[in-house]
Amino acid sequence: MQVGLAMAVIIAAVAGWLLGSFAADVPGLGVAMEAARLLFLGALKLIVGPLIFFSLISGILRLRQAKQMRRLGVITLLYYLGTTAIAITIGLLVVTLWHPWTGSPTLVESGGLANVTATSAAGATLIDPQASGIAEVLLGLLKRTLTNPVTALAELNILAIVANALLIGLAGLASLPANSPLITLVHHATDLVYRIAGWAVMLVPVGVLGIAFNMSATIDTALIGQLALFMLVVFAATALHGLLVLPLLAGLLTRFGPLKFLTAVASPALVALTTSSSAATLPVSLQTATSKMGVDSSIASFVLPLGATINMDGTALFEGIAAVFLAYLFGISLGPAGVFVVFFVAMVASIGAPGIPSGSMAGMQVVLLAVGIPLEAIGLLLLIERPLDTFRTAVNVEGDLLATLVAQRFAGTRE
Ligand code: ASP
Repeated sequence: MQVGLAMAVIIAAVAGWLLGSFAADVPGLGVAMEAARLLFLGALKLIVGPLIFFSLISGILRLRQAKQMRRLGVITLLYYLGTTAIAITIGLLVVTLWHPWTGSPTLVESGGLANVTATSAAGATLIDPQASGIAEVLLGLLKRTLTNPVTALAELNILAIVANALLIGLAGLASLPANSPLITLVHHATDLVYRIAGWAVMLVPVGVLGIAFNMSATIDTALIGQLALFMLVVFAATALHGLLVLPLLAGLLTRFGPLKFLTAVASPALVALTTSSSAATLPVSLQTATSKMGVDSSIASFVLPLGATINMDGTALFEGIAAVFLAYLFGISLGPAGVFVVFFVAMVASIGAPGIPSGSMAGMQVVLLAVGIPLEAIGLLLLIERPLDTFRTAVNVEGDLLATLVAQRFAGTRE
């Protein structure tokens, strides 16, 4: 989210809150605010299914390149999946051990929810609240997964969307020739969907205006305090991953010591911090990898673009903590099955998120829907999205750069 947009969001939040608190009775205002709210949430909901569907298929089809470099492809993917899993685990561990908002009133207790008109998609919740026992939960998940792509997209059944995208992508890898027009079509469709997602992000101020109006009764000092604590926890966990775990992994897996690694990634991390976009940072990352870190350019030019779209440690970690925090606020108890769903869906959502400012917001919505948190929760996250996006993007880029060193070490020809 760029600075101008971030300012607009803050202004919209304050305006929505003021209008909701002092002018709620003005005729027609409530309807207009409801329209603003639905416009944004509707746009997000409209794009999220195709976004996940096409970006996953297109990501898998890009792996074709890796076929020629099998070892590089396998190592890069293992690294990406492994470190993303570590990042979510850190996020979920930190938030399990440290959740300073517990004890303060949830939106249900403060009566705030009375004012919130929940927008959720009936078919999207992954856990059946009636299910007793893990076997029943797993059977339910299996049933939801085995749905055809048309129904899955129509019902916003994320699990089936992901399963279908994986199947189609893998089948395409196995059967389509490299110059197949179908592959070009999928890449073009993905560009198109990304563009629409970008437009949806531009609607954020409109949405925040409506959501803040709708929630004005709940945006009180207690909630601001809870949001500040949430930010603190996210920053701490992100710092733990970026300043300790990744540098230590660098020390263990590559010839770079932790400090040397941190110094080398400093400038791309700064660019990521200011642009909030892994994709926009790509040119700097490529240059750093090849000229500062001595990575082969053939390796860097495969690992980094792939990483900018599928490897997002900071994002995955953030989504895990955000889900737990918002579940608390909305009075939803996650339980072990819920945490498992958050882990799995946050992993997929971070892989499917584009490396653009606030790219993870659509995916975040999937995480919320999966555990039954109303979409309005996104409105709360958007209020603090700007500072959070900067740091998580820096860690996303740091993870991609470590991947180049790992790939060079284990799949390179120079060592
Ligand atoms: N802005 C992030 C990136 O580009 C994506 C996100 O988490 O929103 O890496």
